[in-house]
Amino acid sequence: MHDEPAAPAVQVTGLVKRYGAKTAVHGLDLAVARGGVTAVLGPNGAGKTTTIEVCEGYRRPDEGSVRVLGLDPVTQGAALRPRIGVMLQSGGVYPGARAEEMLRHTAALHAHPVSPDLLIERLGLESCGRTPYRRLSGGQQQRLALAMAVVGRPELVFLDEPTAGLDPQARHATWDLVRELRADGMTVVLTTHFMDEAEQLADQVVIIDGGRTIAAGTPDELCRGGAENTLRFSGRPGLDLASLLNALPADSLAAELTPGMYRIEGKINPQLLATVTSWCAQHGVMPDHLAVERRTLEDVFLELTGKELRA
Ligand code: ATP
Repeated sequence: MHDEPAAPAVQVTGLVKRYGAKTAVHGLDLAVARGGVTAVLGPNGAGKTTTIEVCEGYRRPDEGSVRVLGLDPVTQGAALRPRIGVMLQSGGVYPGARAEEMLRHTAALHAHPVSPDLLIERLGLESCGRTPYRRLSGGQQQRLALAMAVVGRPELVFLDEPTAGLDPQARHATWDLVRELRADGMTVVLTTHFMDEAEQLADQVVIIDGGRTIAAGTPDELCRGGAENTLRFSGRPGLDLASLLNALPADSLAAELTPGMYRIEGKINPQLLATVTSWCAQHGVMPDHLAVERRTLEDVFLELTGKELRA
């Protein structure tokens, strides 16, 4: 058994990290319990990679406290490294090494590895066996980096943008593998730009922006924060929402999320639906894609940051 069975997987408090005059992370808090998948979600430049690299021991915090599996990644890195897996956004692999050799070699260094054959099969790496790393395609390098990060069956694995640039089939294969690893008891922390990835995989979501944590919780908790249901439709951009709101019950909200995409929050019932469609009819608007939906992480993100994730 390990020394700190009760320690959370990750506990970051008040992390500050500067690059010269630029402060990339401004007092960020992050708590990850053992087990499950935590998605760290944020727009470009939010500080995701910096935070993860501090947790991995690749960067020293300027301020704040960082504990990973109860250990300080800077001063106790030697004890921590064998217990965590790391998938960087790029690099970290000897360019001349052959894919399969590298994976089998890494597996052989661990007492209870995940089977390299299983990883090769799950991640569709069969054709890469004898190819040197540098000759693999970007997507193949990425899948191999994922396999390398998890083959030692670490207690905790950090995946930085694991599916960025992958085709849909490879993305789904990656998601399936992450689900299997979670079921096997591995704690997974991943950064992502993709809302659907967080919705598909995450037990916990941490939204960061401008180097700070701005929300955290299960996807359900985050989505329940506001109105339960929303009504969405698309129409021509720039509709007069003040006039539409006049026709709706007082506690309703209306927003143009992106040009021509509208969302109404409030008590969404048949009467409200009828009011909206009749307002549209009076104003010559065809409400396309009219739908009553639950709030999504995308809505929450947009409300909190004012940004679209992939903008
Ligand atoms: P992305 O999704 O684009 O990777 P991110 O959320 O991972 O973004 P970081 O890579 O942590 O964000 O970057 C946070 C801020 O720090 C950004 O403004 C970035 O330009 C800056 N930054 C990151 N690395 C360095 C560095 N080595 N030197 C100087 N500035 C850096």
